[in-house]
Amino acid sequence: MTNWRRAQDRHFLQAIDAGYEAARSSKRVGRPPYPLRISSAGMCPRKLWYQRWGAEACSEPDAKSLRIFRLGDAIHDDIRRALRRAGFKGDIPTSKDEESELSIEVAFGDDESETVTGHPDAILRDVEVDGEVVDVLVEIKSIGPAGWPYLFKEGPKEDHIAQASVYATAADCTKCLYIYYQKGTSEVACWLLDTSVEAAQRAWEGWRKVLEAGSEAPPERAYEPVQEVMQGCSTGRKVLPWQCSYCDYAHPTCWGDSVTPDPTKAGKPRFVHSVNGEAVKPAPTRAESGWEAASVQAEDW
Ligand code: SF4
Repeated sequence: MTNWRRAQDRHFLQAIDAGYEAARSSKRVGRPPYPLRISSAGMCPRKLWYQRWGAEACSEPDAKSLRIFRLGDAIHDDIRRALRRAGFKGDIPTSKDEESELSIEVAFGDDESETVTGHPDAILRDVEVDGEVVDVLVEIKSIGPAGWPYLFKEGPKEDHIAQASVYATAADCTKCLYIYYQKGTSEVACWLLDTSVEAAQRAWEGWRKVLEAGSEAPPERAYEPVQEVMQGCSTGRKVLPWQCSYCDYAHPTCWGDSVTPDPTKAGKPRFVHSVNGEAVKPAPTRAESGWEAASVQAEDW
């Protein structure tokens, strides 16, 4: 009986995963160069260049990743409905279909420019903040339990600030409201910050690098290998930073033979930096390094 149930469980699980994967729409419409999007603000310019010129990604989002995306969409819509019910006015869509488009111009070269577009989560108009009436750009993010404590130590992530600040600049909003939803407990946290001109400027600069690189060679890498640290101690190895380990173009497209994939139980690759094709040091076992916890933390964040 037990074996039969297990077999059926697997059957249903595989069927459900196949159902998600059947709805995957990873193929891009049209031909390169693909347009840049405001949602990419703050990302590595080299990664954006690979996307723009249609480089083949090293991996497709699996069924679990697709479920995470859909859950994120549902959380967005739910929070936006709550903002409406709370009486806020402005541009508050409750589904992707209702989202309005904003655009900015990015100048590059001698006399060229490209339009970069995107859809902000919401814009609240005429909100009273400290006795002043302002327009507020809303950025909604859902995160896992492991990343939650980091928010309270460090505040909103740099690329979230970059994205919101570009939208806010395009929509004439002087404030940005960051709403974080914790997927494990359904807790919500909010930060109201001034629109960051510097963060928006850094995003502009990243897009400009992508556009100025043309079609032949990508811009420089934005990241370098870092010392691997486990439980507060250096392992003596160098690894790619988490931004690269989660990049679809890390291996072999961006780093080639200079890194070796080092799979973890968490299902995400960790890339060990190597010298002349030789790994600097053999990977320690999970028990030796305790790195399962570290990789889970990186995934959730
Ligand atoms: S692997 Fe790292 S440096 Fe290379 S494109 Fe991706 S994020 Fe950028």
